[in-house]
Amino acid sequence: MMSTVFNWQLGRDMEFPYDAAYPDWQFAFVFNINRCIGCQSCTMACKSTWTFSRGQENMWWNNVETKPYGGYPHHWDVKTLDLLEKANPGGQTWNGTTKDLKAPYGEFKGKTVFEAAKVHVSDEGANRVLGYLPTDEEWSAPNRFEDNPVGNEKGSKGQLAFKGGELGPQHKTWFFYLARICNHCTYPACLAACPRNAIYKRPEDGIVLLDQERCRGYRKCMEACPYKKTLYRGTTRTSEKCIACFPRIEGRDPQHGGLPMQTRCMAACVGHIRLQGLVQLNPDGTWKENRYNPLYYLIHVAKVALPLYPQFGTEPNGYYIPPRWVPRPYLKQMFGPGVDAAIERYTVPDRELLAVLQLFGKDARICFRYEIQEGPKIFEATIRGKKFEMFDDTIIGYAKDGTKIIETKVEEPFHVRDAKHANSI
Ligand code: SF4
Ligand code: SF4
Repeated sequence: MMSTVFNWQLGRDMEFPYDAAYPDWQFAFVFNINRCIGCQSCTMACKSTWTFSRGQENMWWNNVETKPYGGYPHHWDVKTLDLLEKANPGGQTWNGTTKDLKAPYGEFKGKTVFEAAKVHVSDEGANRVLGYLPTDEEWSAPNRFEDNPVGNEKGSKGQLAFKGGELGPQHKTWFFYLARICNHCTYPACLAACPRNAIYKRPEDGIVLLDQERCRGYRKCMEACPYKKTLYRGTTRTSEKCIACFPRIEGRDPQHGGLPMQTRCMAACVGHIRLQGLVQLNPDGTWKENRYNPLYYLIHVAKVALPLYPQFGTEPNGYYIPPRWVPRPYLKQMFGPGVDAAIERYTVPDRELLAVLQLFGKDARICFRYEIQEGPKIFEATIRGKKFEMFDDTIIGYAKDGTKIIETKVEEPFHVRDAKHANSI
């Protein structure tokens, strides 16, 4: 029996095995792909916190893969896209009519992993979710194809650089880093598929957890999650997944006096590409208007951050600012129809966007609200025919209880090192 639920990322109702139930707050995050350097500090921060024990050797709750060839497990996204295409040949398309909040990217005309399950009956019968179980080989190496570009230019011996493959705005020779964790989906496919009801979504913050006591290791969650973010542990014969560092989200980390903190992978990010927070939901699952919450602003006002493979239908709560240099058809398949507008806005950011982008990576505590104090104009230019003005505004970020946690400027302060601290190496 399927229920009908509203998926705002698809701009329409869709089928889901359970009735809609939304948390008061939802864990969500924005990753700015343009800034990721693939250093894997996030990956190691997670591993050294949660998955360093026996049986967890192949367990990477956070991973960073090089697109387009890389993926963990290998080819996870291509395989699911293929299954959907086979279930609905030529039908995985969007209409272009966008509306606020209820359909910001238009309406998805194709089938989600829940809807396609009905037309894909395997030898074992019909599943609740269309998916596949990766092989051991596909789980074996977390960072295959690292830094492998795609492109039509071949280098020759003695040549130092490609001649033109990297020219903007869209490079002919390209790759990018895609950092991933569990998306703590609004309609989790892992939860939908579990025959033991071992997976649940917390009503207070929307974090999706897997109860090890109830799990019997059937790996239905692993088969169903289109992002392949539940992982199996052979030593306990149960599955495990990202727990969104919930003690930190609850403010139980002793480091910061009871205030909700960002997860370990967010706080450790060297590139300052990550901003994580909690957003309030309306009774219908759409986001409550909260104009000065940085996530609400980036996703619903500036619309520079887009969901990862929204067409899968789980309503993931991870959002990405797409990479400027990558050919658009590839990005549109990955982030939906909002790509062109998002890249346009990011390339020539307005005053508010430029200020909000400074909040990334500034403090480990979660920023619930920001405020901008206007400063003088310090630069102007024309970027691809558009006027760009830069103001040295000050952006201030506040924690849940109103404590000021961030105060920074658009122009990074320039410090001249005193002669007595000169490097003497
Ligand atoms: S990303 Fe996968 S594991 Fe995480 S909540 Fe969504 S369906 Fe479940
Ligand atoms: S720590 Fe940040 S910059 Fe480094 S790989 Fe992870 S997401 Fe990218």
